[in-house]
Amino acid sequence: MSLPLFPVTTVGSWPRPPEVAEAMRAYRRRRIDRAELDRIADEAVIGTIAYDHPVITRESVAAQRRWAEISGADRIHYCGAYWGWGFHEDGCWSALRACERLRALEPAVKLGLAA
Ligand SMILES: Cc1cc2nc3c(=O)[nH]c(=O)nc-3n(C[C@H](O)[C@H](O)[C@H](O)COP(=O)(O)OP(=O)(O)OC[C@H]3O[C@@H](n4cnc5c(N)ncnc54)[C@H](O)[C@@H]3O)c2cc1C
Repeated sequence: MSLPLFPVTTVGSWPRPPEVAEAMRAYRRRRIDRAELDRIADEAVIGTIAYDHPVITRESVAAQRRWAEISGADRIHYCGAYWGWGFHEDGCWSALRACERLRALEPAVKLGLAA
């Protein structure tokens, strides 16, 4: 099988306006053919946006492990799904980790021991 270096596919759910949902029903009932279904589906597309998913490599995993070296240094905290596998829960977990770090600083800030 010949695939591009970074193969892509549809992710998440595919929103279907009523005319596409109806066309899909009509296709299943063999009232329209595949070409007609594709035409209706293509017409319903308002625009397309290209997104990149984080590429997980040995190097990126090694870099993720060094988060503590940069996050919080100079009062800049880093979070985002790219610190994990690139999914919703990674973004959430990463944000909580940054919040934890901020909360850890709170008493020191109150005492004027940290900026
Ligand atoms: C089409 C699609 C489907 C997906 N489906 C799933 C799924 O089914 N399940 C799942 O777990 N994950 C899914 N994901 C992945 C999930 O959406 C991401 O993991 C998550 O949104 C990443 O969250 P984030 O906060 O790290 O980054 P983002 O949500 O990208 O947030 C970054 C924010 O920073 C802002 N920003 C960027 N640059 C600057 C700047 N210079 N100054 C100020 N603001 C800036 C951006 O506008 C954006 O609001 C999907 C992603 C896409 C694109």
